[in-house]
Amino acid sequence: MPDFSLSEEERSLQDLARKFARTEMAPHAAECDRAGRFPEEIYRKAWELGLMNLNVPTEYGGSGLTLLQQCLIVEELAHACAGMTTSIIANCLALEPILIGGSEEQRKRFLPGFCSEYHLASFCLTEPGGGSDAGALKTRAVRDGDHYVLTGEKCFITNGPFASLYTVFATTDPALKHSGICAFVVSRDTPGVVPGKEEEKMGHRASATSTVRFEGARIPLENRLGGEGDGFSIAMRTLDQTRTPIGALATGIAQAALDHAAAYSLKRETFGKPIGEHQAIQIKLANMTMELRAARLLTWQSAWTIDHGQRGSLESSVAKCYASDASMRIADEALQIFGGYGYMKDYPVEKLLRDAKLAQIYEGSNEIQRIVIARQLLSAYA
Ligand SMILES: Cc1cc2nc3c(=O)[nH]c(=O)nc-3n(C[C@H](O)[C@H](O)[C@H](O)COP(=O)(O)OP(=O)(O)OC[C@H]3O[C@@H](n4cnc5c(N)ncnc54)[C@H](O)[C@@H]3O)c2cc1C
Repeated sequence: MPDFSLSEEERSLQDLARKFARTEMAPHAAECDRAGRFPEEIYRKAWELGLMNLNVPTEYGGSGLTLLQQCLIVEELAHACAGMTTSIIANCLALEPILIGGSEEQRKRFLPGFCSEYHLASFCLTEPGGGSDAGALKTRAVRDGDHYVLTGEKCFITNGPFASLYTVFATTDPALKHSGICAFVVSRDTPGVVPGKEEEKMGHRASATSTVRFEGARIPLENRLGGEGDGFSIAMRTLDQTRTPIGALATGIAQAALDHAAAYSLKRETFGKPIGEHQAIQIKLANMTMELRAARLLTWQSAWTIDHGQRGSLESSVAKCYASDASMRIADEALQIFGGYGYMKDYPVEKLLRDAKLAQIYEGSNEIQRIVIARQLLSAYA
């Protein structure tokens, strides 16, 4: 990755996202966070500007952005509000299995509708019994003629209450573990599809998260992605693609935390001078800067690797894990620099700390990322 400069097109996408984030998202971030409000009007505007469905190629009506371009956009959005960004990029997560595992006919059937009209979609993998061990799903898919009957429950599903389409992972036989899992595209209006109520969350409160239950929902065979047993691989390959933008989301939170902390350190005075002139605070700001830059570079490197045709499992795990851990430390230090005011909801940094936490958990916890990284490292020495 020798060239670190952004192209004209990349800069203009970054500017578009920055302007939208600062004018449309940031002014509503605190209110949506406080009320736990899902600001659908903002998501609709993001869709109108082409800031949703970032991964859909042009042949299906999307903008065909590279992963690096997607990351530039996601970082800008997350700088304004990580919760809104989670809801905006959940469509990419939900549509990626169709891009990865869908036939040409399925791609043409499901994807253009998201680009011609505003719709939300959800990715349904996690279950109440566990998210990390995705091979141990309990949601059942029982073949009945030219349909599958889905029964089970998914939890923590982003946009669950508002989605019109779900990509769902279910097993034909739990004893088969990973090789029994299938992926399905499920329309919300299918009888037996029951989204639950919105969860009360610590952060990302502008995003909606719920259970989605399947009570004997009949899914036509033509909505199965790939063959029977391909679901686990489709889910893992999806996450290889979508973890890098989570690195970008974490970087956006970290940049916002550094921006607030640096500006505050020049205004707040103790012992007769701005706290930014005390060396202890300067060291914090310097460490935050170094970690932030490393997070961004690892995210860009992962995007570049995947954009150049590699799967990028290792790179995306490194980017997501490092950037989210760094974002958590940077938000924590920003709050410390604000002192007591940092702990108050009148100031923006406590929200950043709450929002940073999620990136260490979702799309595969950071413990699982470290397992992925170590496994690949050790295989190179075996
Ligand atoms: C706000 C929010 C939004 C989400 N959105 C979605 C979504 O849209 N779609 C979706 O499918 N899921 C979603 N998730 C689920 C998320 O991906 C899972 O929470 C995550 O994968 C962890 O699964 P779990 O919560 O069941 O934890 P568990 O798997 O029960 O793990 C509990 C703890 O044990 C650790 N652990 C587990 N196994 C190991 C191991 N082998 N070694 C070391 N440590 C281990 C984990 O890292 C974690 O710290 C969301 C979650 C949240 C909180």
